[in-house]
Amino acid sequence: MYPWGHNRRFNAFPNYCVKVFGQRLQKVAVDAGFTCPNRDGTLSTEGCLYCNNDAFNPSYCNPVLTITEQLKAGIDFLNVRYKKAHKYLPYFQAYTNTYKPVKELEKLYNEALNFPGVVGLIIGTRPDCLDDETAGLLADLSREYFILLEFGVESCNDAILKSINRGHTFKQSADALKICATLGIKAGIHLIFGLPGDTRENMLAQTDIISSLPLHSIKMHQFQVVKGTKMETLYQQQPEIFYNFSREEYIEFVIDFVERLNPAIVIDRFAGEMPPRYLAGPSIMADKTWGFIRNDQLIQMIEKRMQQRETWQGRLYS
Ligand code: SF4
Repeated sequence: MYPWGHNRRFNAFPNYCVKVFGQRLQKVAVDAGFTCPNRDGTLSTEGCLYCNNDAFNPSYCNPVLTITEQLKAGIDFLNVRYKKAHKYLPYFQAYTNTYKPVKELEKLYNEALNFPGVVGLIIGTRPDCLDDETAGLLADLSREYFILLEFGVESCNDAILKSINRGHTFKQSADALKICATLGIKAGIHLIFGLPGDTRENMLAQTDIISSLPLHSIKMHQFQVVKGTKMETLYQQQPEIFYNFSREEYIEFVIDFVERLNPAIVIDRFAGEMPPRYLAGPSIMADKTWGFIRNDQLIQMIEKRMQQRETWQGRLYS
């Protein structure tokens, strides 16, 4: 038994939910028609160079529908694919989901929270989009519900963030996380491994920084070149600047990362999935011989390899 209270070799999000809520929770994505300051001209009109929200927004999400209608459609869709759940976490996923006036946010979040079976929210956003009023609203909601604010941190390296046109620095991420910790709002981060110009050494060195942040959870993503993005053009012009993990190498890398990671941080994702039709470069999820694997298959491979290596999350954390 590991410190997180079960026998899996990492502090897994689904197990965390069972521990806290006594049952499996189903995330249900909703698209509330947000935009993003990195696209609407406030910071930039270019967006992050890899950004194409269509690549991960599920087919049942449609901003023309109300939040209630999207939740109904999403739950129907997910009940066919997965074991039926009875408790839900609406996931405000597409674009920047704190980027509206606080009164509008309150209305949207409350509509989701009032849906039967909903126990909390996951809200994806940027670290530079948390003003005092919104933080106050989320702190209030956190007293009653499970509220997880997910920040796209992506890298701890400002030069990398600049090269992908993120439009914020790592310090802004660290500051936003401190605000959340002070106000009692759970905060998670996204990190991307393999961004152009990054090195294995630098990616791994981030573990100490990440481990020292007041974090609830982490999602790790391998970098993928998505069709129709500015990164696709860059990839066609300079493929040599891209760090292309093989699947085996990625599995070894995330294990190296996780064994240095603070064991208190819940792991919500090891890799990103997207429909193959959006891919414009190699992917660890694709294999010439065996075709595409799904996220759960990759997790099984990671867990098997952790067992072979006799390691676990935080084994080298100090
Ligand atoms: S912050 Fe998110 S939505 Fe905005 S451009 Fe970057 S990836 Fe796209």
